Amino acid sequence: MTYKKMDKKLDNDFWKTKNLSLTIGEVSIGKPKQELDEPMGPTPKPSVTDLRSWDFKLLKRYPPFYAPFCDMCCLCTYGKCDLLGKKGACGIDAEAQQARTVLLASCIGTAAHAGHGRHMLHHVIKEKGKDFPIDMGKNIDIEAPIIRTIIGKKPVKVSDLDESLSYVEEQLSHLLSACHTGQEGNSLDFESKALHAGMMDDLAREVADITQIVAYDMPRGDGDEPLVELGLGTVDKDKPVVLCIGHNVAPGAEILDYVEDNDLYEDVEVCGICCTAIDITRYNQAAKVIGPLSKQMKFIRSGVSDVIVVDEQCVRTDVLEEAKKNGAVVIATTDKMCLGLPDKTKEDPELIINELFNGNIDGALILEPKKVGKVAVEVAKKIAKRRENLKCLPDISEIPEIAKECTECGWCVRVCPNNRPIMDAVTAAAKGDLTKLANLYEHDMCYTCGRCEEECERNLPLVSFITKAGDHFVKNQKFKMRAGRGPVQDVEIRKVGGPIVLGDIPGVVAFVGCSNFPNGGIEIAKMAEELLKRRYIVVATGCSAMSIGEYIDEDGLTLYEKYEGIFDASGLANIGSCVSNAHISGACIKIANIFAKKPLSGNFEEVADYILNRVGACGVAWGAFSQKAAAIAAGVNRWGIPAVLGPHSSKYRRLYLGRIDKEEMWDLNDLRTGETVKGEPAPEHLLYAAETMEEALVSTVKMCIRPNDTPKGRQLKLSNYIDLYKKYFGELPTDLELFVRNERDIPITHKKEVMDDLTSKNWTPREAPKEPSLLERK
Ligand code: SF4
Ligand code: SF4
Ligand code: SF4
Repeated sequence: MTYKKMDKKLDNDFWKTKNLSLTIGEVSIGKPKQELDEPMGPTPKPSVTDLRSWDFKLLKRYPPFYAPFCDMCCLCTYGKCDLLGKKGACGIDAEAQQARTVLLASCIGTAAHAGHGRHMLHHVIKEKGKDFPIDMGKNIDIEAPIIRTIIGKKPVKVSDLDESLSYVEEQLSHLLSACHTGQEGNSLDFESKALHAGMMDDLAREVADITQIVAYDMPRGDGDEPLVELGLGTVDKDKPVVLCIGHNVAPGAEILDYVEDNDLYEDVEVCGICCTAIDITRYNQAAKVIGPLSKQMKFIRSGVSDVIVVDEQCVRTDVLEEAKKNGAVVIATTDKMCLGLPDKTKEDPELIINELFNGNIDGALILEPKKVGKVAVEVAKKIAKRRENLKCLPDISEIPEIAKECTECGWCVRVCPNNRPIMDAVTAAAKGDLTKLANLYEHDMCYTCGRCEEECERNLPLVSFITKAGDHFVKNQKFKMRAGRGPVQDVEIRKVGGPIVLGDIPGVVAFVGCSNFPNGGIEIAKMAEELLKRRYIVVATGCSAMSIGEYIDEDGLTLYEKYEGIFDASGLANIGSCVSNAHISGACIKIANIFAKKPLSGNFEEVADYILNRVGACGVAWGAFSQKAAAIAAGVNRWGIPAVLGPHSSKYRRLYLGRIDKEEMWDLNDLRTGETVKGEPAPEHLLYAAETMEEALVSTVKMCIRPNDTPKGRQLKLSNYIDLYKKYFGELPTDLELFVRNERDIPITHKKEVMDDLTSKNWTPREAPKEPSLLERK
């Protein structure tokens, strides 16, 4: 006897009509089931090694390219060991050490999302009960494509998500354990583990976002979500201001509930920075979005916030020190970030409010979101008046005088990660010209990391200079951003799945991740604009979604006002926060399932192979900086989705680069004929770091090419590639012979010049495979 059999026997109409529910272990009878109506594939809940053969196929095509940040290892007490051309005392070599660091970063990133998801799930189960249903709305049947594929089940109620998260936690401990000295010793095996960690990250993000969508009634994939207010100028600084920073929506949502319950909308401003900003506006559009991560130090230092509520991830760790400078109060709300603050979770809110108001404590750790709601709002109301005339930045007229102290030592520029001309701005300010400081403020050209200030031999308050100049010149900036919509609906996939796979829609480009941009957020918006004009589907999440909203085009509109939020050609869909990135992989998985009828349950490899060869999607993480971004990239890469990163990303130490000089690496299996055929570098790389925006854009367009493109689709993709390459580099792309399979692929408008180019390279035509794949025919 098995539980499954028993379930079958008892699950008949009698039991249903009597509304009886019987639970045996984890098998539940009389309730909606998690089983899917499709056969279970070969790898449900894959172990660390179950998908190793798939990873090795990817790694053979896209070998890791290592760029060591450091040649030493100092992880254990044998060391430190110099690995430059030598092995460490434990036997590890430099390549494996780099790969170990990559795995470590992916594990840290995955743990951040899994920890966030776990907190969220506990909180929601506590508040709503374990049977709270997972209802993703009438246009979504495939509620959790990642869970369905990896776990092989569909979650029906929130407590069903626990199984996925427990599995992630188990895998994560195995993966992290492999980083210990004297475990894994092979770089490719470390890479395979890093890809596994990335897939766990995908799963954890899907759990976290589904949990918050259903529990907080966030949008469920509507393309016409309202526009929300974005920018520093949207906050009424005359009111008490509560600022939320981080990624966990629970405290922010309680703050908004408290405001609503007490009819305080007119009296208190609630705003956010980073993904919490996106998520609180998914919950309640009365909240304001200040902007991406790069706004953090500027906004805190401006002194506008009376109370700063921090939750988890990407928060400045010196937030308390900065807040103290202008008398703001900090409330920490998760175990990830306690900041040395006294734990007031169990204390009476009125007592906490008084202690904070009286200055007995600088801040408080409150691990109960509801309590945070009341305390944050009431403290802000009480201290706002007192802080009204607090002088936290130098007066604009004082800056030239202080700036005269600059010795022009140049250290500020030397340590600036982006080589910003801060010394020039300071010397210009000394002469009374503050525009250069203001220019650093615009579009977060300076993302206020504070390194220059730390290094300045005269201790000049450089970030305060930039903040004040920005405050003076651009303080009234107001923009619009479409509220994060969450998943792509099944009905949308039904419409665009075919055109994407056949190439009639030239690609899906996802602008994701943080704001460690080399030249400010405007580059993200410019790239998005170019692609939208060319009928790509553009999706965005997190800081990138906010940066896109901070750009006004020549018609005076933000891209969110100009383009619809649909998942269709020329649609600009703000998917949501970092955890919502799961819906981007999810959309690709849905294409494989809905359009190509690929079963999902336990069928990772077939689905990923389909995506790699047929779904023209590419991620762009232009400002990726965190370990979470490393995990996200590893996750999408394992699904077969390539990503283009910004120049700082080489500091992740590893890229996955294809070799166009090695023809044999691109061979494909044609599943229709069973033959091995000559392939093409499509996509050319799995993980690529571009140096400039122009290179990134051209690479992104190229990396949407797939072996499955029809001649019409390939023409369209090549036409965009040729146009953009010519626009930015003034000539035809130098590698067209790789992507023109036969004459039918050549865009009509470029026919002659492309043919001339191909002829000069002795190009010969070839047939496109009917069903391109890296897998063997079954
Ligand atoms: S882990 Fe290995 S390479 Fe690193 S310090 Fe220890 S012995 Fe040296
Ligand atoms: S604060 Fe701005 S100017 Fe200073 S080092 Fe950081 S990015 Fe550069
Ligand atoms: S580090 Fe300070 S003193 Fe040196 S150039 Fe920069 S602003 Fe001037």
